[in-house]
Amino acid sequence: MKVRPALTTVCTVLLLASARQAASSTGSPFYGDAPDDHHPWAVHDWNRPQPPRVEPGAPQEAKPPADALVLFDGTEACLEKWQPDDQKKGKMWVIKDGAFECVPGSGYARTKEEFGDCKLHVEWAAPTPPKGDSQGRGNSGIFMEGLVEIQVLDDYNNPTYSDGFACSVYGVSPPLANPLRPPGEFQQIDIEYRHPIYKEKECLDPGYVTVYCNGVLVQDKIQLEGSTGHMGRSKPRPFPEKGPLKLQDHGNPVRFRNIWLQPLPPRAGVDPGIHGPLTVEATMAKRKEIAAMVREDAAKLKDPANPVPEMLRLMESLVYEKEEKTAATVDHMTGQYVEGLKQLAADKVGAKKDEAKRINGAFKYLAKFNIVPADYAPKVELEKIIKDQGWDKK
Ligand code: MG
Repeated sequence: MKVRPALTTVCTVLLLASARQAASSTGSPFYGDAPDDHHPWAVHDWNRPQPPRVEPGAPQEAKPPADALVLFDGTEACLEKWQPDDQKKGKMWVIKDGAFECVPGSGYARTKEEFGDCKLHVEWAAPTPPKGDSQGRGNSGIFMEGLVEIQVLDDYNNPTYSDGFACSVYGVSPPLANPLRPPGEFQQIDIEYRHPIYKEKECLDPGYVTVYCNGVLVQDKIQLEGSTGHMGRSKPRPFPEKGPLKLQDHGNPVRFRNIWLQPLPPRAGVDPGIHGPLTVEATMAKRKEIAAMVREDAAKLKDPANPVPEMLRLMESLVYEKEEKTAATVDHMTGQYVEGLKQLAADKVGAKKDEAKRINGAFKYLAKFNIVPADYAPKVELEKIIKDQGWDKK
């Protein structure tokens, strides 16, 4: 009876020591930057919930779309696209069984080409049998622009701090789920990455990342907080236009395959992009550009014997930009057209029915959108001709 409390004490001390040891290598307590006004958890906080397990569907072979830039397809030729990140070490990862394998100690592998916003497909497999635990088991990383790490880690059966879990935005955002396959099997990762955009010191778009792991959404358009790092709270900042894709050497022979990338279109409003709602300034610039293109096309249709196609195309250009010179040309051409119609012999007018109605439709459209006034003289006159000829009746 006297021994038991002493034994309990010894066991408690051992357990605490072991917990402390684990904490020293894997995170909290008193480890990463503390909670703050926007982060209820510390960086690498073990009190942050573990991602729930979601069983992935059966693996399906993924193939690069035609517009993808293939960075690794298992062939030696692809090594040309990669180089050691640490040129002094000068050691390169190796191809084994068609996979790009990390050689521990060689440093990160990086692409020679640099990329900005992109969609990236990567497949990775952790070593088997598994060795180590927490951050020590099958650790690597996919570094977008060399700055933002999407964690690679064998968490199939391996708890770790959740903001360092596989598919976390490392130190920032734990994955929504754990859909990992066992070590040795390839995980299919799809990343959509948008980097921060600044104009001088003003942040126009903080950037974000969306990640799917084995077809399961694990990062849902997570806002970036600058580049990622260990223990420290990352801070928003401007990024370079482009950066290399880097794969991390964390001392484990993690294997990669099927790596391909598609650049994403520029964002509307912040980049000179046209996908999505545009600012007034950007919209007007684009409309001007379209109008110029339509006018250029109209010039090709110039035909004194049949001016109608050119006239209609010029009228169309006014929808995008009411350029004074073009508006005056349209006034002149439509006025002449209506005058010509009025002068036409009675037996020849009938042949103009469809054409006149088409031009009338264009007038109506331009008036509806206030590009010409409702009482625009050629429009009023043409309407009268159409009525007099009975073309307005069905
Ligand atoms: Mg890592």
